[in-house]
Amino acid sequence: MNSNRGLDHDEKLLFEVGDVNRTGVDLSEPENLSQMLGDSFSDSEIGLAGLSEPETVRHYVRLSRKNYSIDAGLYPLGSCTMKHNPRLNEKMARLEGFSEIHPLQPISTCQGALELIDLISSWLKELTGMAAVTMTPKAGAQGELCGMMAIKQALLNKNESHRKIVLVPDSAHGTNPATAAFLGFEVKTIKSNREGLIDFDDFKKNIDKNFAGVMITNPNTCGLFETDIVKISELTHKSGGYLYCDGANFNAVVGKLKPGDLGIDAMHINLHKTFSTPHGGGGPGSGPVVFSERLEKFCPTPLVENDKGEYDLIESLDGKGLSNSFGRLNVFHGQMGMFVRAMSYMLSHGADGLRQVSEDAVLNANYLRASLNDRLTPAFEGYCMHEILFSDDFLKDTGVETLDFAKAMIDEGYHPMTIYFPLVIHGALLVEPTETESKQSLDHFISTLRDLVDRLKEDSDSFKAAPVFTPIRRLDETQAARKPILRWKEEPLIAV
Ligand SMILES: *Cc1c(COP(=O)(O)O)cnc(C)c1O
Repeated sequence: MNSNRGLDHDEKLLFEVGDVNRTGVDLSEPENLSQMLGDSFSDSEIGLAGLSEPETVRHYVRLSRKNYSIDAGLYPLGSCTMKHNPRLNEKMARLEGFSEIHPLQPISTCQGALELIDLISSWLKELTGMAAVTMTPKAGAQGELCGMMAIKQALLNKNESHRKIVLVPDSAHGTNPATAAFLGFEVKTIKSNREGLIDFDDFKKNIDKNFAGVMITNPNTCGLFETDIVKISELTHKSGGYLYCDGANFNAVVGKLKPGDLGIDAMHINLHKTFSTPHGGGGPGSGPVVFSERLEKFCPTPLVENDKGEYDLIESLDGKGLSNSFGRLNVFHGQMGMFVRAMSYMLSHGADGLRQVSEDAVLNANYLRASLNDRLTPAFEGYCMHEILFSDDFLKDTGVETLDFAKAMIDEGYHPMTIYFPLVIHGALLVEPTETESKQSLDHFISTLRDLVDRLKEDSDSFKAAPVFTPIRRLDETQAARKPILRWKEEPLIAV
């Protein structure tokens, strides 16, 4: 057990801590007060809780600690790349010239910011081997939308809007089929084979004259490299479709291979995964999309252009080779603070450092795999990429389920891994250690998981009861998601 036992402490609402009859300040009654508010004047109670400054500070500091974070401990969520965010990034993002600019200020006054956008654009193109990039999408999911809108636009441009079918593997992240469906495509699921990869024959079988394209995650959500990707891209193009790649797992291959070489037409990059920067606690994301030459002219505005040393934002669709663009995706130009953080991360790593990031991420995941495979059950044979997927076979006949196992980890001071995703594996447990965890930290995590597994048989009841050290124990998570209680009422909110 580490010092994060239970992960959290309870904190009441301000209204429950303070009360309306108290106040943190002590001002004397004003004399001869003439009020100047006319009919708007009111001297009735306003119902705010009175608190002293230390009480208020404590309340907010405690709330801030409720957000379990990568700075507090290992955060093994698979598919999320919860890596350490170097403080240098934060220092750079806080430079006044970046943090205080406004998207509506004159272009001549924010040349440095545009230069940074231009520079990071060129590096993303370099790292991916793609022809164009759009920086505006605000997260991976919006990047998917952006890429698929360009594909839709390209089909429209060829008078081929009858092509409505988008193929998506059954291991895909939910945002993939959601994006395609949102744009009016018809989603068809393709099967994974026993190795956890796309079943090429099933893919081929599903291609017909209405085929618009395929959305593939590579490495996929099983933590495996799609070895048929080139065959898939060739067949996709031969059949008149486009290949979208979900680049959320770019961390496993950055600096090692260029997605452009695989025949990918559009791919989003989660800056907030591959290039550090905080997320997972509701912080901003950023999901630039890179495009192949096939799609380049359909990508959205604005684009940054450098004309004789002056940077400009191209907004107009005419005269600049953008007449086929699908238009604007967002009101402004993207998440500036995230660009600065990602740029700072790239600069401080350099090309060799970025390559080492992916090598170490893969090494760490395989170290976990090798250290746990006699206790947990890896879902597939052989090496994995940057994350390791386990099935719930090791829980068989114990009466303990994946959810119980995850809850027990909280009592041991660990945030659980991603569970029940991807859907293709029964009771899936997906662990992504990232490259920023040390061997000591991995060893501690490994021994905790091994001990938990060894406790399964003799003590399955404790798994069912977990977590016991958290202020609130098992939540009705479905109810909490479907019927969130967002307003404070005077009666107690949660019956404990
Ligand atoms: C994180 C993730 C997404 C969505 O990205 P957001 O930035 O969270 O919108 C899509 N696909 C995969 C595989 C992911 O891991």
